[in-house]
Amino acid sequence: MRWAILSDIHGNLEALEAVKAALFKERIDKYLCLGDIVGYGANPRECIAEVRNLGAPTVAGNHDWAAVGLFDITYFNPTAGMAVLWTVQNISEHDKAYLKNLELTYQEDDLTLVHGSLNNPEKFEYILDIPSAKKTFELTQTKLCFIGHSHSPAIFIREGDNYSSTARLKLKLDPKQSYIVNAGSIGQPRDGNPRACFVIYDNETNELEIKRVAYDVGSAQAKIIKAGLPHILAERLATGR
Ligand code: ZN
Repeated sequence: MRWAILSDIHGNLEALEAVKAALFKERIDKYLCLGDIVGYGANPRECIAEVRNLGAPTVAGNHDWAAVGLFDITYFNPTAGMAVLWTVQNISEHDKAYLKNLELTYQEDDLTLVHGSLNNPEKFEYILDIPSAKKTFELTQTKLCFIGHSHSPAIFIREGDNYSSTARLKLKLDPKQSYIVNAGSIGQPRDGNPRACFVIYDNETNELEIKRVAYDVGSAQAKIIKAGLPHILAERLATGR
């Protein structure tokens, strides 16, 4: 079985289309989505429709929940809060019902999905380093736990009581180890690389790969400006920050 794991699309249809085009050449059996389909970008409706069309089991992100009143936007910085309010005005009741029904965690086969962390998934805490990864390692019952939220791809590894991280983008999984994999962000990367980020996992070859694809940043930026969203949301896409 070969999965594609998508995260933090954030209403960026150009980025999502580029990822889909790249994945159509990859013999993917199933798509999974780590949440934050909406927020920041100008095409939340279209991105929800695309994720639904892919048949991707999806967990809720803080922006998905904020757009339907399940997460308090006082936790957001002013720019993110403005984007949430814009999103509320620009998605349908049908879209809102879909976002409201997203679960916080999802498990199938040897993998788990959660947007932030398995401890208090409804609080959307960040896993940024080994100390913050430990609780999720303790709580996960599967070999792999995929996360999003920080918009920076990362791989944390546990082998017994030993924890480490790796900057490698391609990994052959070791049966003695378990993994937390941050799938980065499709629609608003923040690791200094503006290209859309996604992950492919194959449980037959036991290989996992973090991949990048370029997309039409200019078009996504122009839509953000035209929509009246904060300009910084357009500018940051060019630098991946
Ligand atoms: Zn996000």
